[in-house]
Amino acid sequence: MSIDLTRASADEMARALAAGETTSVELTRAALAATELVDGAVHAYLHVDAEGALAAAAESDARRAAGTPASALDGVPIAVKDVLTTTGLPTTCGSKILEGWIPPYDATVVARLKAAGLPILGKTNMDEFAMGSSTEHSAYGPTHNPWDLERIPGGSGGGSAAAVASFQAPLALGTDTGGSIRQPGAVTGTVGVKPTYGGVSRYGLVAMANSLDQVGPVTRTVLDAALLHEIIGGHDPLDSTSVDQPLPPLVEAARQGATGDLSGLKVGVITELSGEGYQSGVLARFNESVDLLVAAGAEVVEVSCPNFVHALATYYLVMPCEASSNLAKFDAMRYGLRVLPEGVESPSAEEVMRATRDAGFGDEVKRRIILGTYALSSGYYDAYYGTAQRVRTLISQDFAAAFEQVDVLVSPTSPTTAFKLGEKLDDPLAMYLNDLATIPANLAGVPGISVPSGLAEEDGLPTGFQVLAPALADDRLYRVGAALEAALEAIWGGPLLDKAPTLEGAAR
Ligand code: GLN
Repeated sequence: MSIDLTRASADEMARALAAGETTSVELTRAALAATELVDGAVHAYLHVDAEGALAAAAESDARRAAGTPASALDGVPIAVKDVLTTTGLPTTCGSKILEGWIPPYDATVVARLKAAGLPILGKTNMDEFAMGSSTEHSAYGPTHNPWDLERIPGGSGGGSAAAVASFQAPLALGTDTGGSIRQPGAVTGTVGVKPTYGGVSRYGLVAMANSLDQVGPVTRTVLDAALLHEIIGGHDPLDSTSVDQPLPPLVEAARQGATGDLSGLKVGVITELSGEGYQSGVLARFNESVDLLVAAGAEVVEVSCPNFVHALATYYLVMPCEASSNLAKFDAMRYGLRVLPEGVESPSAEEVMRATRDAGFGDEVKRRIILGTYALSSGYYDAYYGTAQRVRTLISQDFAAAFEQVDVLVSPTSPTTAFKLGEKLDDPLAMYLNDLATIPANLAGVPGISVPSGLAEEDGLPTGFQVLAPALADDRLYRVGAALEAALEAIWGGPLLDKAPTLEGAAR
């Protein structure tokens, strides 16, 4: 068997490595060559670390040769979202304020990748501090969707999704506070998983909103996501919110799902997230996927989660409150950028902070800092933050009630396919609406996956199918996701990404 060095899945790469049919150096070189070829047009990466990746690949090959691979994915290269700290490699979070900052430590997930032998190709582009749904809020320019370079790749993790969709990396890490792994997955035809809150360590994830953020896999197949999830997941004493219990068997669940048998499984279609406000082609693909679950033996019912209609408003209070307090530490004294105010002879510390924050943060970040500071100010705290927390509890209760009736809940991942770059940039509310269906999971801490569900008829662009499960039952995502993937690929005659245009020679 010989594999395509860039288009193969991570599982296929791992098997070829184990069989001695390729080497990690060869795979890593191929990934870096793909970046040379297409990333001028896509702009998935902020920093590429060819030297570091090739050195790690050589070490991996030595382990394979000695018969002592460090993990199932030892030697398979990966891209990492630039919100995760990496020793010796820049970490900007897509912001000017962190330009030039080289962290002195690895995020736990990065340390786990290294321990498992995955060469890190580089750091991927993102909306500034993970605020956005299009990657257009990056201070370093937008990422382009490999399906149509004039369109957004989703956000905030558009760089990770685009790197995987354009075959620059078989695997990537993303982070999801309100949908930033799943929505980019949906609009680029890739798989994205937001694990259970506390299931993957947040240590070294530069926080946007601590009670909502989760790190998770961005891949081309459901099985690859499970393989990666098992490497990054599990208890971490460095994260006080980390769950101290073993992960459920994720890879096993994916393999079982791929056999296509979902008998005994009860699926709930969320009434509030599968009707109004969705593009017709997105809904058509969603309904087709639901029919495939039925054909695989699942029982499907409709389930109402009445408080989900308040999820967006709740999120846009909780998130800015937490973000405004998290971002206070970027004060020009400790990290990155320092701007001296113009025309001031001996500026005070406060004047330097003001000038730095003014120059270092983009508009969306400032908007949220103002919103959060306002909502947390004395006299308003209970009316805004307090109310949002109470509604958050109601949303969790909706999930709990729903999961008494069904094993998993489903909806389209995103209400539309990828829109044009610039289309929603000046309309924050239109931008926020992209996460209508993904936000409830973050508010309640439950896990979710987005699986490609085909191309919308009207524009030929990818759509995503979201599966949500109870907290700590992440294995159900993989079972259902793999079953759906198998059924859809049988219809498409192969992976959806085979239908994407080839970008070689695409100039910009
Ligand atoms: N798009 C949402 C936001 O702008 C979610 C971002 C995320 O998950 N990081 O907040």
